Amino acid sequence: MPRGPRFFAVVPAAGRGERFGGRYPKQYVALLGRPVLSWSLRALLAVPTVFSVVVALSTGDRRFARLPEARDPRVRTCRGGERRELSVANALEALAGEARDEDWVLVHDAARPCLDPSDVRRLVATLRDDPVGGLLGLPVGDTLKAAGRDGRCDGTVPRDGLWRALTPQMFRYGVLRRALRLNLERGRAVTDEAAAVEALGLRPRLVTGRTDNIKITFPGDLGLAAAILRTGWSEKDEDRARLRRSRL
Ligand code: C5P
Repeated sequence: MPRGPRFFAVVPAAGRGERFGGRYPKQYVALLGRPVLSWSLRALLAVPTVFSVVVALSTGDRRFARLPEARDPRVRTCRGGERRELSVANALEALAGEARDEDWVLVHDAARPCLDPSDVRRLVATLRDDPVGGLLGLPVGDTLKAAGRDGRCDGTVPRDGLWRALTPQMFRYGVLRRALRLNLERGRAVTDEAAAVEALGLRPRLVTGRTDNIKITFPGDLGLAAAILRTGWSEKDEDRARLRRSRL
């Protein structure tokens, strides 16, 4: 019997986090008692629609095996690459033979631990019948400045129609594989999957995400992430609210 498309997740976690600094890569830095990567995986695994998760790790990574999520039967690993898009491409190769072209892949940065499962569910619900796929994003709220090397303004960039790209980004397995391959052949560096898909002439859909889905880039981001995670996932809040209502 033909089955509907499945939903795989890919988590590139092979970065060195050079901008972050520190003794070890930022995805393993402790955040409220568990590594950043553990939080990111936990959010994806909380969504039953996610069939399995491939985590791309740098060679010689010995920290991943200590994560509780490493023992989850839905989680497996593959070797990462020199750049983020190569790590994602390796994870797609690891799915070859299992994923079909029409299956969906949700690519989520290891460094976004505050992902709320409600955002994953909304992304899937919005895009599951979309011809192209798309990504979570946020309209730019601040005024944007072009900076010169001397730290002075070279101009003000109009922000109308500009969005920040977040993750997960969700594309069909076949489309994403083709897009990343073409991108590598052309020798172009991209910092997200959507850019590679755009290079195919397609227009990914922007799905408004939560403002608290922040990326850990600098050490100062950890405090903010901890504050966000302390408030808990929205569905827990919804559950609590339901419980309160049922007691009234
Ligand atoms: O450095 P940046 O924050 O842009 O990295 C985004 C994500 O890509 C991180 O989760 C990082 O671990 C991952 N990455 C990777 N392989 C690389 C470089 C980055 O998996 N070679």
